[in-house]
This record gives sequence, structure tokens and C-alpha cells, in this order.
Amino acid sequence: MRQAFRAAVLHCLADPGEGSDASALQFFDDGLLLVEDGRVIDIGDASTLMQQLSDDIAITEFPGKIIVPGFIDCHVHYPQLDIIASYGAQLLDWLNQYAFPVEAMFADEDHAREVAGVFLDELLRNGTTTALVFGTVHAHSADAIFEAAESRGMRLIAGKVLMDKNCPNELQDTPESAYADSKALIERWHGKGRLGYAITPRFALTSSEAQLAAAGRLASEYPDVWIHTHLAENKAEVEEIARQFPDSRSYLDVYDKNGLLRERSVFAHCLHMDDEDRTCMASKGGAAAFCPTSNLFLGSGLFDLRAMRTAGIRVGLGTDIGGGTSLSLLTTASEAYKVLHLQEQALPAPRALYLATLGAAEALYLDDKVGNFEPGKEADFAVLDPAGSSLTERRIRVASSIEESLFAITMLADDRHIAATYVAGKRSLIK
Ligand SMILES: [Zn+2]
Repeated sequence: MRQAFRAAVLHCLADPGEGSDASALQFFDDGLLLVEDGRVIDIGDASTLMQQLSDDIAITEFPGKIIVPGFIDCHVHYPQLDIIASYGAQLLDWLNQYAFPVEAMFADEDHAREVAGVFLDELLRNGTTTALVFGTVHAHSADAIFEAAESRGMRLIAGKVLMDKNCPNELQDTPESAYADSKALIERWHGKGRLGYAITPRFALTSSEAQLAAAGRLASEYPDVWIHTHLAENKAEVEEIARQFPDSRSYLDVYDKNGLLRERSVFAHCLHMDDEDRTCMASKGGAAAFCPTSNLFLGSGLFDLRAMRTAGIRVGLGTDIGGGTSLSLLTTASEAYKVLHLQEQALPAPRALYLATLGAAEALYLDDKVGNFEPGKEADFAVLDPAGSSLTERRIRVASSIEESLFAITMLADDRHIAATYVAGKRSLIK
């Protein structure tokens, strides 16, 4: 079935960089997005493309709104939805006080299913159509999020957490069960429709050497499966890693030695690392998830985007709920701007859009499928409403360019600024 959507249309063709390279952005003030069977077939000026349409095509019009590619969240924990905005702790205490107790509740399969549905509806409400998602240690936590994503038609990557030490007993698996459960989940879900599996060791402090080795074995047996973990988030954590892994040159080296650094490895945070680590990560194709609301909220540190991109590392934005404070990638980009501003780095609006869409797709090795509106890609998109709040509407009236409008929307936006979200050409019905 062929469909047409008329509004302003905006997407990135490449990384606009700190200098906001105009050729990396494509914008149609009165644009048309043509979709057939869930895929983009063309975009362009409405006046030109409408002449080529047959009369029987229904055109969905969004006057005054901006169609952008669906946002992609490169790091988020769905089981932590209910502890978002928990007061006062840094990473290691925060895990014990808040994250582990709420994850223990996922022993109940019905609870996992309920939270998975609410979580994905919240993503869609925020214009997010794809995410890389942590479950809990329970294998059925992965089943629950995959079932919920499948019923909504979303492109989603997730995995069950591996952890066998430094956490409550009821949240521990073993190297053997971690391997067997993950393998069964890969066989059940990886490549099924739009779903993909991620081997998900929580971080190096909660996995024994035997478990890290088992995860690495699995990663080599399934080279097109993702690896998803945390890296160098917090200074106390990095010091503990140095104590527990004296033979490793760095935190990244612990993962690398276990075969967990390769293409499709995604590391959340990457705050406290050196140039040797960056060169190594880039050369092996690993990617970083930049999670500014979490890094500020947990007092973890400032992500050095310039150093990461200069080294050639793929980077996308992550909300990192529940350490992060918003599921909106627009709000996340707004905090990214401030984190970079503190370090005398620039984040022009086109690059922020890139980090939330095409850049994130590149980080996840999904840029042949999603991330922008190149013909053939899956038609996942969000409809931005610049009048989502009266203040944003007022601000946009005096903007003189799309870059200025997009910047103001990014700084001021929340889920009220998402008028609709489409997944593979279908409007999502958010419950
Ligand atoms: Zn996280």
C-alpha cells in the first residue's frame, strides 16, 4: 500500500559535525514523504512529488509540523522505569539502593509484561521507534520486551542481564546459565522480524572472569548479535575495576581480553578513558552511548564527544532510564548540548538530530535499515509539533531558519511536542 505524508521534512545524510555542515542536512519546508509497504520510497518538495502521484493515494497532512526520522535510544533499562528520579546516590550506591530492588520484582513474569508494554508506549509517545534495551537477569524479562516490541512492530534490540557477583543472590545467574539462557533467547528472538539480541553483561564488576569468558564465547559464536554493557561511568567504579583486574591495562581492556569488543559492541557512558582506549575502540568497531541526563543526575562526569568522534568512534544518544531523567531524546540532546558547552565543544541542532537518528543507527549498525529517509529504509518517523507548548510556539515565531527552530524545539521539547509516531508506516496507537 502506498501512502503520502505532507509536512516539513527534515533528516540527516551524514554527521553535520561541530561546524554544522549544511550539506549533511536535507530539509523540505513543504515536503512529502512517500511510503510503500512500510518503506520509504521517496522524499522531496510536495509541489514536485504530488504531480507524480496517482489520484487514489490518500495524503496525510500535518500542517505546521516537521517530520523527522524516528529517534533511536542507544542505551536504556526498561525494568528501571519505576525508579526514574530517585534521590541522591552515585552509581554503586544507586545500584544497591534503587536498581537492584526494582529489578528483583521482575521474578514475576506478569510484572515484566506489564512494565514492558508501558515502557514501549512511553518510547513511542516520545517519538522513539528503536532502542537498545537492558532487561533483568531473568530470561523472561527479555521475552517480555521482545513480545511487546513485536506486537507494536518496533525495531528493537534487547537482552537478559548477565551477573553472577557483587549483587543480591536473587539477581545472580552463573556462567553456565548465563550462556545457556542467552543462547536460547538468541535462537528464539534474534532476527525474528525487526528484533535483535544483545549479549548483556551488566558491567565488569558484576561478572566473574568465567562469566565474561562465557559471554565472549557466545559473541564469537554469533557474530551478528550485539553486545551491550557499561564502560567507565563513574570514578569509584573505574578504581574498583583497576583493583579487581590488575592484569588489564584499562577498563576497556577487560572487555577486549574477553572478546567483548567488536563491531556491534555498544558501551554506555565511556566517560573516564584515554586516547589509547579510544583508538582501540574505534579500530575494533565498538560504539559509545552518550547518556547526558544520567551522567549529570548520577554525578558521573562529562562525555568528551569531540575526542570520541576525532578517534572515529560511532556515537549515539542514550536516555539510560532509570539513571537518566527523561525518555525524550530531544530532552537528552538538550542536556548533551550543556555537557558539551561546559567543555567548550559545540552541539549545533543538526548534529543533535544526527546523534538521535542516523548517528545512533550507525552506532547500532542499523544504518542500512533506519536513521534517515533514504529510499528503501524502513518508514519509522516522528511528527514534531513546534507548537507543543505555548512557549515553544512563541519562540518559533521569531526563528529565521530551520536550524534556529530545531535548536529551540530541542531545548524546550518534551513529549507534548510529538504529534504522532509512525512505525514502518503505521501510526502507533499509544495506550
Ligand atoms: Zn545503564
